Amino acid sequence: MQKYALRCVECGTIQDTYSTHCDSHDSLLRTEYLEKKLIPRNLPGIWKYSEWLPVDGVIPEGSAHSVTYQSEGLGKELGLENLYISFNGYWPEREAWMKTCSFKDLESFPTMQRLLQHNDPRVMVVASAGNTARAFAHVASITGQPLLLIVPKMSKHRLWIPGDDTSSICTVGVGGDYYSAIELASRISCRNDFITEGGARNVARRDGMGTVMLDATLTTRRLPQHYFQAVGSGTGGVAVWEAAMRLVDDGRFGNQLPRLHLAQNLPCAPLYAMQSGADIDSSCPKGMWDDVLFNRQPPYNVRGGVKDALDNTNGLLYGITNKEAEEAKELFEVTEGIDILNAPSVAIAALIKAVHTQSIDPHDHILLNITGGGKERLEQEYATKELDFDLTVSPTNPEVENEIIDMITEKLGARDGQ
Ligand SMILES: *Cc1c(COP(=O)(O)O)cnc(C)c1O
Repeated sequence: MQKYALRCVECGTIQDTYSTHCDSHDSLLRTEYLEKKLIPRNLPGIWKYSEWLPVDGVIPEGSAHSVTYQSEGLGKELGLENLYISFNGYWPEREAWMKTCSFKDLESFPTMQRLLQHNDPRVMVVASAGNTARAFAHVASITGQPLLLIVPKMSKHRLWIPGDDTSSICTVGVGGDYYSAIELASRISCRNDFITEGGARNVARRDGMGTVMLDATLTTRRLPQHYFQAVGSGTGGVAVWEAAMRLVDDGRFGNQLPRLHLAQNLPCAPLYAMQSGADIDSSCPKGMWDDVLFNRQPPYNVRGGVKDALDNTNGLLYGITNKEAEEAKELFEVTEGIDILNAPSVAIAALIKAVHTQSIDPHDHILLNITGGGKERLEQEYATKELDFDLTVSPTNPEVENEIIDMITEKLGARDGQ
């Protein structure tokens, strides 16, 4: 018997194991695991939570899980007695081993493992403003699976990996923002021989990110009352909500779902704008504190998406300015003693706001997701390798798809001929 089934959130019918859409609805599909109790396995990295991941095997090398610990410094500073941090990044002193330094590692490993076990030889296409590209490149450099990265040219500084085998990775730099990259990627992935990673619709991504909640709940032996995260698409929020519902069904960790506190960076905050009617500046994502938090088409209204997650948990969305994020980042780094990426400081600023507006109580159990960090720490120990663009293109060039396919054929062909 299969360890899980994929169910349409709208109509409840079971769909094919590898599909991303319901036959009849535009709803998200959700995994339903046979095992209702979460039993951690004695496996490395994220595979510890294999029971609730839609995979049958593991990629032992290179994967890591979140690390949950109780904050002393920041908690004391904010007067919070039960502040727990889910650290996703590299911090050996706390046994945090995510070598691309963001929680996108939680999505890339299960996604690529699924492709492997399905014997799917197609080229995985990933559009990314950086952190996702890095996470998928990291896996592909370990497994040798073919990967096409489509990245905004201005995000090149985020294109590095901790390993050095890039022979299966084809990298294209695109003029324009993340949206141009997404559009080009979706055109390419319609072709034979290519497959898209599926974004929020990919259950391996969501359940991978959901392990943040699994790790925290097993560590503290209870569900938190509040969950804080910086979001672009909001998929992480949906993922932890789904994980929390499974943990409620498990029965050992309480029956109250954590309240989602999701934070975006003003003025480039589409989710926040959908709820509050605020404007999105036409210059976005230029000037953002961290442009990984910009996504023009977040899965807000789709059934099982961000709106449902917020409604179901009495959740809140926050708009955070660059200045608030910058101050929050400094406070965190000083009080907790590790460098973090810019994005998670938007979540910390939201936590500070929630304390000031008394949306949370000093005794409440709070989980703060530090979605990326430890890059400076990693650089003390590892020589990271920068990925070069194999090709740079303008999204309006009518020949762009053919140019990309020629480049891939040449690069991967040369590799296969070795
Ligand atoms: C992608 C990303 C986020 C936002 O994730 P969602 O997909 O919106 O949940 C937050 N922080 C970092 C570091 C990221 O890479």
